[in-house]
Amino acid sequence: MELLNRRTLLKTAAATGASATLWPGLAQAAASGTELFTSDEAGLLVDSVVVLGEKSAVLIDAQFTAGNAGLLADMIAASGRTLESILITHLHPDHILGLPVLMDRFPQARAYAQTDIQAILAQILGGMHAEIAGSAPAGVFADRFVLPEALSADHLMLEGERIEILPPMAGDTALITPVHIPSLDTLIATDVAYIDTHLWMEEVATTNGIAPLRASVEALRAIGAKTVIPGHRKSGSPNDASVFDATIAYLDHWEAARATSANAEEFRAKLMVGTEALGFAFAIDRGVAAAFPS
Ligand SMILES: [Zn+2]
Repeated sequence: MELLNRRTLLKTAAATGASATLWPGLAQAAASGTELFTSDEAGLLVDSVVVLGEKSAVLIDAQFTAGNAGLLADMIAASGRTLESILITHLHPDHILGLPVLMDRFPQARAYAQTDIQAILAQILGGMHAEIAGSAPAGVFADRFVLPEALSADHLMLEGERIEILPPMAGDTALITPVHIPSLDTLIATDVAYIDTHLWMEEVATTNGIAPLRASVEALRAIGAKTVIPGHRKSGSPNDASVFDATIAYLDHWEAARATSANAEEFRAKLMVGTEALGFAFAIDRGVAAAFPS
């Protein structure tokens, strides 16, 4: 079968009662065979994408807090689809700590991460969970972690259609696997692209460098997909190639501010000029500290 096109999706949504209006301010039906869930600010405005077949679904990224993961699970359940697979695109906690909530709700699903990413997760996920969940009130995060299985294949299948998993590339961390769904003309850029939010610059500003991230943005832009879903945005922000422009503009702004600043305070002040309205403010302090280590 073909993945659902817009008309089929809307018809199916109407038939099942599934609708973006069930999650006002959190989710929206995308233009083609996917449903999006964007977390609240406490969940760091992170996107998860549900790819819909007729009867089954695949989830890309699993949210940060237990509350947001639970709302995402509600959305998947309301779609009427059986969740078959979950892909974790990179090792950051805002994309994986909600995974246990989803596995509890959909125990038949299998969770995966690309082999190299999974190998790192196997080393760090326990410590990451302990540090983050341990410093938050009970219930904010899942009380355990789930290590995804290693996936060496370059795709997942959904009802006979390929969901292409791109080779790991630099984003806001060294290894990220964006997802391309040619049959839906959709690219899930995950944390290679942001819009209407600050960028997580801690690793980019230290070990990784900005040039590899810029190169990844242009490589994804060159795919030319009509629908482009970034890793972080505000609910209602665009899902198209403008997310690449927004990412490059932020990097330009960052580099100009950094090049003309003598210390962290000056850099922070310059970075905040014109970016006051952006979400994901949690990223600022860590980025500034990385740019001017004390
Ligand atoms: Zn992220």
